[in-house]
Amino acid sequence: MSYDVVVIGSGPGGYVAAIRCAQLGLKTALVEKYPTFGGTCLNVGCIPSKALLDASEHYENASKHMADFGVQVGDLSIDWEKMKGRKDQVVRDTCNGLEFLMKKNKIETHQGIGSFLDANTIQVKEEKGTIHKLETKHTIIATGSKPTALPFAAFDGKRIVSSTEALKFPKIPKEMVVIGGGVIGLELGSVYARLGTQVKVVEYMDALIPTMDRSLGKELQRVLKKQGMEFHLSHKVTEVRNTGRKVSVKAENKKGEAVEFKGDYCLVSVGRSPFTDSLGLENAGIQPDKRGFIPVDGDLQTTTKGIWAIGDVVGGAMLAHKAEEEGTAVAERIAGQKPHLNYRAIPGVVYTWPEVAGVGYTEEELKEEKRAYKSGQFAYRALGRARAAGEMDGFVKVLADQETDEILGVHMLGARVADMIIEGVVALEYKASAEDLARMSHAHPTFTEAVKEAALAATDKRPIHA
Ligand code: FAD
Ligand code: NAD
Repeated sequence: MSYDVVVIGSGPGGYVAAIRCAQLGLKTALVEKYPTFGGTCLNVGCIPSKALLDASEHYENASKHMADFGVQVGDLSIDWEKMKGRKDQVVRDTCNGLEFLMKKNKIETHQGIGSFLDANTIQVKEEKGTIHKLETKHTIIATGSKPTALPFAAFDGKRIVSSTEALKFPKIPKEMVVIGGGVIGLELGSVYARLGTQVKVVEYMDALIPTMDRSLGKELQRVLKKQGMEFHLSHKVTEVRNTGRKVSVKAENKKGEAVEFKGDYCLVSVGRSPFTDSLGLENAGIQPDKRGFIPVDGDLQTTTKGIWAIGDVVGGAMLAHKAEEEGTAVAERIAGQKPHLNYRAIPGVVYTWPEVAGVGYTEEELKEEKRAYKSGQFAYRALGRARAAGEMDGFVKVLADQETDEILGVHMLGARVADMIIEGVVALEYKASAEDLARMSHAHPTFTEAVKEAALAATDKRPIHA
């Protein structure tokens, strides 16, 4: 079989690349080693985690907030099996949707492990051992990432677990230790904290979500603490031990004292590592870098002409929508187009409640670059809509160039900011000024009015409602 393009890996990078290639008239094949398409994101990442976040949020609202609105709920209970079953159904439906999309776009799919025999030949080894070969002009590597283990504590899948197992615990834990106060730790930590688990987050740095604007982690810690989560920052974990029915996590705190945390499980969420096992990269003349990522140039082409790589396996932000943009860009480059990719305008979102979102430069990055900037911030509690909804925690911050007023970054925490951040993305893509954003009509009463007010505060210190 011979193709214009073979894509290895069907996550959001790979399947989007395959669809775009097919749309552009390229004969395309997609190779996936798992029985379902969709990669980490659809099977064990974005989609199942959001299904559990939404389910646990319903419980949290019913148990803690509805009475404030005059809605009395009777005896509440959690049907954990049903909650997990619904999540699995959402995953199945989403993966089935992908299968339909592959057929509709006439993409030939091959289930099995893809590996290079040479730069233009891909071997596919099916689970039952059958081997076949695909000849191709171009290959797109989209093999993603896997959870990173601590060097002294391998995952055992029973008590010391990654996000994959934490999406399907047999029972809701009574207590759980989370190592890493990043996105996975806080999202899955939130799920279980809402369902009644005592969640203890142990983080090496002095802040949560440390790569986002620092103001966000600080505020998020305050609100999640109110929700019952425990935080232990600036802690160096030294030992993680499965003690049978429990797990013991030993760490050193800021003062150098030894401390111990116990839980039914320990979720290790300290990042993810590129996945290139069994790819046979050496047969294609490709050498991963020291951290295991596949090196690519500005066009996402590897050191071997005609072989491209996208998504988590090339590093940068490990986000589904970043992988998707790269997949589209590579397909278009193969077809001879000149697509544009603006990494600064890729938003990051944390789906806790309240949600957290940011795009563009953080204040810390601007300080480091010694760039003159101005900042405008607006608190949710001054919004009519926030009071009506009982969602007073949150703020929007707009950062703009001191001289030109061009928006450089937008950072927000609060109800619905996961959807609102697109306003910052559009502003960055179109190089809008804070004045531009401030002069646009924002519907009243909505949470988006906080964006307008923050832009007013940034451009000329003239918010209306503060
Ligand atoms: P992947 O999705 O990892 O897909 C790679 C695919 O390649 C896999 O299916 C794998 O089986 C296949 N493969 C690997 N090697 C081979 C081979 N040799 N032959 C054949 N197939 C192979 N991101 C967001 O943007 N938003 C979120 O809300 C979000 N939530 C997340 C929640 C969790 C719990 C996790 C773990 C991740 C989350 N992410 C989220 C991150 C997101 O899942 C990844 O950034 C995204 O999936 C990366 O896409 P990818 O296409 O690069 O790789
Ligand atoms: P992360 O990089 O978001 O967070 C890891 C955290 O662990 C950091 O705060 C880091 O300082 C800390 N850490 C590292 N080593 C440690 C140690 N030894 N002890 C204590 N803390 C330590 O990584 P993650 O939460 O594992 O998520 C992996 C990837 O998946 C991320 O790149 C993320 O972008 C992606 N993801 C995205 C979403 C989303 O977009 N909503 C959701 C889940 C996952």
